[in-house]
Amino acid sequence: MSSKHAVLREVFGFDDFRPGQEAIVDHLLAGRNVLAVMPTGAGKSLTYQVPALVKGGLTIVVSPLVALMQDQVAALKLAGVAAETINSTASREENVAIWRRVAAGEVRILYLAPERLMTDRMIAALQRIGVSLIAVDEAHCISQWGASFRPEYDALQELRTAFPGVPIGAVTATADEATRRDIVEKLFGGEAELYVAGFDRPNIRLTVEPKSNTKRQLLAFLEGRPSESGIVYALSRKSSEELAAFLSDNGYRAVPYHAGLSPEKRAEAQELFMAETGVIVCATIAFGMGIDKPDVRFVFHADLPGSLDAYYQEIGRAGRDGKPAEAHMVFGLQDISMRRRFIDQEHEEGERRRREHKRLDALVAYCEAPECRRQSLLSYFGEAAAPCGNCDVCINPVATVDGGDDARKILLTAQMTGERFGATHLVDLLIGKANPRAQALGHDQLPVFAAGRNQGRNVWQSLIRQLVGGGYLTIDVAGHGGISIAPKGHDLLEGRIEFRYRPDMIRPAGGKSGTRA
Ligand code: ADP
Ligand code: ZN
Repeated sequence: MSSKHAVLREVFGFDDFRPGQEAIVDHLLAGRNVLAVMPTGAGKSLTYQVPALVKGGLTIVVSPLVALMQDQVAALKLAGVAAETINSTASREENVAIWRRVAAGEVRILYLAPERLMTDRMIAALQRIGVSLIAVDEAHCISQWGASFRPEYDALQELRTAFPGVPIGAVTATADEATRRDIVEKLFGGEAELYVAGFDRPNIRLTVEPKSNTKRQLLAFLEGRPSESGIVYALSRKSSEELAAFLSDNGYRAVPYHAGLSPEKRAEAQELFMAETGVIVCATIAFGMGIDKPDVRFVFHADLPGSLDAYYQEIGRAGRDGKPAEAHMVFGLQDISMRRRFIDQEHEEGERRRREHKRLDALVAYCEAPECRRQSLLSYFGEAAAPCGNCDVCINPVATVDGGDDARKILLTAQMTGERFGATHLVDLLIGKANPRAQALGHDQLPVFAAGRNQGRNVWQSLIRQLVGGGYLTIDVAGHGGISIAPKGHDLLEGRIEFRYRPDMIRPAGGKSGTRA
């Protein structure tokens, strides 16, 4: 049996839980029922997949759609998890073969539609085999309050009596108060832990600026913040040392913190930071686990963090007391190429590496977003929000120009190629570069081919990033990075809304990291 953190890291490749995930995992591991309401994209699957693997034995996941089950099973298998689904699209022989493996204890996670699970035969067979955990996906389908009531879900009320003592995790993205009560009543007989996600930390001001001179920018940021506690995150041990020394020279109380220091030195730095106000820790990501100091007033990113998940985690250490705090980041071209190199060093060519690059793309899109930063950040976690009034873009709207025509060229190129190609391919087509794949697929014959010769590759790449950041385009982060058109993109395509972009975010042509949008 591995620990939840080991499973998270080794099976799923994530360093930290997202908000809410860990609490849900803990409840299920402790044998308690949970209802979790989190937006789509927040990471609900992990909340039952991790405890399933920690507990061992057999976990049943109830899901309403065959396609959904197949996607999840495929993703789990890719991660090396023995997951299966028994469903109506497979042949009888296939289903029988899978059932044999379930009965032999070789399957960890079995996906079933409710009507298949809730038959007397299936329940009896599962009672014999033994079940460790039950997860109910799209749990709102059990409620007659909502528009998505499914009669098959009604039978799930029998689960708690059929499997007494087996914890049930129910997850959904949409459940108002009445629906929640209904789910808790039907699935759990009235009692369950409730978790409702909210990713927003409205008291943290979000600001980003292009990197010119990190030290000078840090000093400028600190001006007017005398004796505030804060964290400066840097990429390397060396720069965390340098920044701490630089701040000390300039009259601040600053200490370095990184994994290369002795345990005593680290403990000393941490204690100083915790016990007093006005201490600035210049740290690598080694600093932060378990740091719960309420009055951290700022987090300054001197280098680009590893991903939006890491960024969210790191800035979340500011302003826990609910009072105003600020997360400021400086980011430059160098940072991006450095991160790309890290990813290539850390991961072999393949699925994981591609995914990490796409996660980095999402972060870069956030940095360049012409729209409210909070909207952009929260939309990454699936949460919708109004412009926040507490980020640099809201406070000082940036100069933008109308990019509707060029944006529509991009959207059309994505559309005409089936919304499954990545940025590099789309840009090739726009500028009229007939790469071998384009030729093989006949993409060089499309009307959009070379339609964007008026602009350079760098312009198209920046526009794509800004379209992603603005929620007009979606990158399939978990898959091959294919770009598809979001609902907002369709509105733009049909001229119902406009698209403005930041010309200041276009990098000079020929930059090294310019090969990847
Ligand atoms: P939901 O079921 O809530 O719609 P998913 O479970 O499909 O969301 O997760 C959405 C995305 O978030 C996936 O790409 C997943 O890999 C990613 N994700 C989930 N948990 C984490 C985490 N702890 N750290 C980083 N990424 C995560
Ligand atoms: Zn804002």
